[in-house]
Parts: sequence; structure tokens; C-alpha cells
Amino acid sequence: MNSDIRVFKFGGASIRDAERIQKVADILANYKGTRLLIVVSALGKTTNALEKVVDAHVAQTGKAFELLNEVKIAHYKLLEGLFEPNAEIYTSLNDTFVEIEWALEEEPHEDYDYMYDQIVSVGELASSQIVAAYLAKAELPTHWLDARDVVRTDNLYRSAGVIWDETMEAAKRSVLPELTNEQFVLTQGFIGSSSENFTTTLGREGSDYTAAIFSYCLDAKDMSIWKDVPGVLTADPRLFENVTKLDRLSYREAIEMTYYGAKVRIIPPLFFLIAWMPKI
Ligand code: ASP
Repeated sequence: MNSDIRVFKFGGASIRDAERIQKVADILANYKGTRLLIVVSALGKTTNALEKVVDAHVAQTGKAFELLNEVKIAHYKLLEGLFEPNAEIYTSLNDTFVEIEWALEEEPHEDYDYMYDQIVSVGELASSQIVAAYLAKAELPTHWLDARDVVRTDNLYRSAGVIWDETMEAAKRSVLPELTNEQFVLTQGFIGSSSENFTTTLGREGSDYTAAIFSYCLDAKDMSIWKDVPGVLTADPRLFENVTKLDRLSYREAIEMTYYGAKVRIIPPLFFLIAWMPKI
């Protein structure tokens, strides 16, 4: 490792509403001047909702448009909490969703996995536009990068494999020049593109993997996965009840916890916790 590049990933829970996106911007304000690549997932549970759109389309239940509309409404509602009504983001978000509407007007594609990737990927495309636009509004200049121009994959839709030499080359060519001390680069987790330029996805929960791909290809100094939790907890709150926050933790205990699988590195006094992964 010889670069000063850092990679941060914010998952769906960390950007699920306007308040959390503002929080992310507050956090990132501390990193102004850093050569930082940010990877985001789709907002909240958007990917699950889009999977329902795909299934409705395949089954031709007549509900696909309605389900997509619910997803759109949730996104527009969130915009209301972040932007003025005439902000440009409304138009660009609409353009992004229109492409899916066109796909839904066609007969379902015979390859389910192909169709799934074309539709479900809109979640990350939409969230990344929103977060990038908000960062710009918060005076954190940010370059929006289409991950599909970098993460080159085979055409195994829904669990695409990375073509490393092409991805490495594309990362150097299109990310490095943008990754300056003056602006962040923000991109989507989970998605890539095949040699025919069709959208592919890397498998559910694939955004951490995307962050690792970029970290590796850019020879990043470190990669941090931010979690929407108030501190180090005694257990994963999604799996256990009665978890408590640990107010004090020695380095020794922290090391022990990570050894047994906890993904934590704390940078007080920030609201979020960082899960840290060594560079691959
Ligand atoms: N949005 C995708 C999913 O929910 C990828 C990710 O969040 O990591 O699986």
C-alpha cells in the first residue's frame, strides 16, 4: 500500500432517511481534503421492494407498476427532507426510474436473472444520486461515478464474477483522476457491467464487496464500513434483544471481539461505528 486513498461504505440502514443522510454528510465533513471514495447501497430496504417489482413483472400480475410507484414515492418523500422542490435531483431521479418503467412495459425477459439485475440495480443508482446531490448541497464537492464503468464482470447475472484486470485498469483510468483532495468520489455498491454493457449485480449484500474491489484496485490505505449503531454493542441488535452499549472498551477487548467476528473499530465521538476490514 502506498496511497493515501480511503474507502468508506455506507449501507442501506445508514442512509434510509433524510436525517441519516444529513448525518452521513456531517461525518464526511470531517474528512474534507481526504482522497475518499464512498460506496453506498440502496436506501433502506429498497432492494427487497424492487425484487417484488421483478416478481410481479415476471408473473404478470399487473402490480409491477404499482409496486415500483411505491418505491418512487418513498424516494421522493426522502427528497422533500433534503432539497428544495425545484432541485435538479427530482428530474435526474425521475430519469433513472423511467428506464425501469420502459423495461416493465416490455414482455418479461426470458432470462430472469438478467431482468432482475436491470431492474434491481436502480436502487443503488437512485440512492447514489441522492447522496451525491446532498453532499454537493452541503458544500462537500462530490463526483458521482457510475460503478458500471469500473466494475467489469462476466455475465453471470445476480452473482457476477469480477474481471479483475479490466476492473483494475478502469479504476486507475476513471477513478484516480477524480479522486483528489478537492472532491470525494461517490459510487454504487452491488452493481457492475458485463462486456456487452448490460448491468450485472454481485449478489445480495454485495456492497461491502464493491468497497473491497475498489480498495484493492486503488491500493487504498484502508476501507471502513460504517454502521448505523450508537456505539459498540454487546451483540448484533438485529439478532438479539437486550443488547447494551459498552461505554468503555479496552483495545485488548476490542481486538478479542473482532477476533470472534465483531466488525468494529470506533472513532469517537462520532455517532457511527466503523467496521474495519484489512486490505485484501
Ligand atoms: N442493496 C443490495 C442488497 O440489499 C446490496 C447491499 O446493500 O449490499 O442486497
